Amino acid sequence: MPDVVSLIRVKRDSVRPLTDAEIAWLFAAYADNAVADEQMAALLMAIYFNGLDAGELRAWTTEMIASGETLDLSRLTRPTVDKHSTGGVGDKVSLILAPLVASCGAAVPQLSGRGLGHTGGTLDKLESIPGWRASLSNEELTSALGQAGAVIAAAGAGLAPADRRLYALRDVTGTVESIPLIASSIMSKKIAEGTSALVLDVKTGSGAFMKDREKAEQLARTMVGLGEEHRVRTRALVTRMDTPLGRAVGNALEVEEAVRALTGDGPDDLMEVTFALAEHMLQLAGLSADPREAIASGRAFDTYKHMIRTQGGDPDAPLPAARYVRGALIAPESGWITRLDALAVGVAAWRLGAGRARKEDDVSHTAGVRCLAKPGDYVERGQPILELHTDDPARFAPAAEALDTSATFTIGTAPPPTAPMVVSVISAADVADQVGA
Ligand code: URA
Repeated sequence: MPDVVSLIRVKRDSVRPLTDAEIAWLFAAYADNAVADEQMAALLMAIYFNGLDAGELRAWTTEMIASGETLDLSRLTRPTVDKHSTGGVGDKVSLILAPLVASCGAAVPQLSGRGLGHTGGTLDKLESIPGWRASLSNEELTSALGQAGAVIAAAGAGLAPADRRLYALRDVTGTVESIPLIASSIMSKKIAEGTSALVLDVKTGSGAFMKDREKAEQLARTMVGLGEEHRVRTRALVTRMDTPLGRAVGNALEVEEAVRALTGDGPDDLMEVTFALAEHMLQLAGLSADPREAIASGRAFDTYKHMIRTQGGDPDAPLPAARYVRGALIAPESGWITRLDALAVGVAAWRLGAGRARKEDDVSHTAGVRCLAKPGDYVERGQPILELHTDDPARFAPAAEALDTSATFTIGTAPPPTAPMVVSVISAADVADQVGA
């Protein structure tokens, strides 16, 4: 029988890869509390430094999936396809994409977590809609999928419970930022969810988890490899996250922008990412419908309303609005905005109350930031570039502090060059010789 201290040493000193049997034993012993949190934390740190090879990563992910239940969506008549984003500032794409792709004939079983840090969570956004509820039983989930074609709900405690425990440990031991650990964490939950196909939106840039493109592409390749190994048709789009996506950042503000997008009035960058993801999702699902037509005809918006009502929400009810609104980032001169930093805006929205620091915290549904001008827009001297929203005026000062750096925005004499939002696409053919580290 393996002993955990020897396994930690093997990984710490890169003696050899861990075997499938050793990884299976480790997960079973951890579940039984025969391996302590401090021992698992030491192993995670060894993995942080030395990675996991392809075989280890496969076994690690398999054990994460096997730690809980796997949903069976095979009774649905429509092809299932889901999307996951690694998270970005103003990223409300899921709210538009799930009903949009469902209105084109797919079933979209989108199980999400809550937001932590400067990127907001999809569930927090939807909870600003009066009556809407995130928690559904497995039966409610399949029934909602059958009715509306799309469901966005909280991932139940039964899906990959080992990830829940490991993620909490990684969060407090500085071991979150490891490509094999991130990839196995995300993919174990998506594979357990039972979808047949998956499109990943891996963000890169200042507002993203993976700041540089090479790391984002490496994460994308690792996740596509894992999905394909587990018979989930998987593709990843690496997309830009240097500036907020769309103009709204914060829960109710983002729902409002998503609704406008579904009725044909979405900002260009948001729609470019949404349509790119929709096209890849439809391809993987074997459907040929046109997502632009689904928006223009009103079909996507009807599906959105159906999806919200199925989960108890009232899509026609007014969204809550902040009591205090104040302009910020006053343009010191007239000219073209050439940069508006996603991270600074995300942190400001978070400090206004839109996000949480600890997972037990409540979020404010009304707090956030509206970008009055973005890169490519012309501003007059004295014009505010942002609008801050909050119910607690004491939050304005810390939010303004997050914006008070020379890197937050720049104004130039000409508009910045335009660049496509999708930086690269990674599909099964690109990962044939995948390694996990
Ligand atoms: N999201 C996850 O679900 N897991 C990670 O490890 C990082 C982001």
